[in-house]
Amino acid sequence: MDLIVEYFTNMPTTHRSLLLVGGLTFFFLMENAFPFFKQDYNKWRHSGMNLFFTLTTVLVNFSMAFLLVASTLWVTDNRFGLINWWNVPLWAQVIFGLLLMDLIGAYLAHWVQHNVQWMWKFHLIHHTDQHLDTTSANRHHPGESVIRFGFTILAVFIVGAPVWLIFLYQSASLLATQFNHSNMNIPEKLDSALSYIVATPRMHRVHHHYREPYSNTNYGNIFSFWDRLFGTFTKVDNTKLVYGLDTHMDIKETESIWELLKIPFVPYRDRIEYEEEEKL
Ligand SMILES: [Zn+2]
Repeated sequence: MDLIVEYFTNMPTTHRSLLLVGGLTFFFLMENAFPFFKQDYNKWRHSGMNLFFTLTTVLVNFSMAFLLVASTLWVTDNRFGLINWWNVPLWAQVIFGLLLMDLIGAYLAHWVQHNVQWMWKFHLIHHTDQHLDTTSANRHHPGESVIRFGFTILAVFIVGAPVWLIFLYQSASLLATQFNHSNMNIPEKLDSALSYIVATPRMHRVHHHYREPYSNTNYGNIFSFWDRLFGTFTKVDNTKLVYGLDTHMDIKETESIWELLKIPFVPYRDRIEYEEEEKL
């Protein structure tokens, strides 16, 4: 445990970059070798667009990093937040710290973005991808990256996160999102067993189905406990899924960076209400 804390306290920026590129490459190769859906699309063009949004996410996080540093220094110096108030051993700080950061920084952030209209207008760009793969993981409008950053700061204050916990959480969160968006065909039984602990590809694909209510389920990123606990967990035969978002299915819009960047600033399109309930 001491080693983990020591490593993440001093995690070099090069290791963080390596994790981003290494994780993407690993899952990219895996989904090419063992694809779940045999998707007919220009994978390089698709990756190029999603990597543009990944780059803007990195830039937003980088330019606001000083706020994260200031927050973690403040909570540590003032012994503020749950970790500082509970007097628990280091291993418990690692486990509970990671769980709570994931709950507030990912699950809550995601749920709120689905339920607050102006935030949804930013988040929906992530849902417009009609060919989900590992490059979709960080297809986030820069505005969404700012919103998510705000939730991470909130999590730091509630948890009282020291710097090692932030780096540990961000590393785990990055690999988790690349994993659960990947088009990798994990055997159903293995995926099902894993889904009692972590958010798996079979779980997260359901979240990218084009219509409600399925797109409002399986919000989790690292852990699957929150979906099970708060009643947003669904298990669906993935072969019946259709990716994308019913209000934004025109590829002239969803395959143009400029059109996607504009979406939060143009009039809102109501979610489509269907006469018949869909049973997948
Ligand atoms: Zn979502």
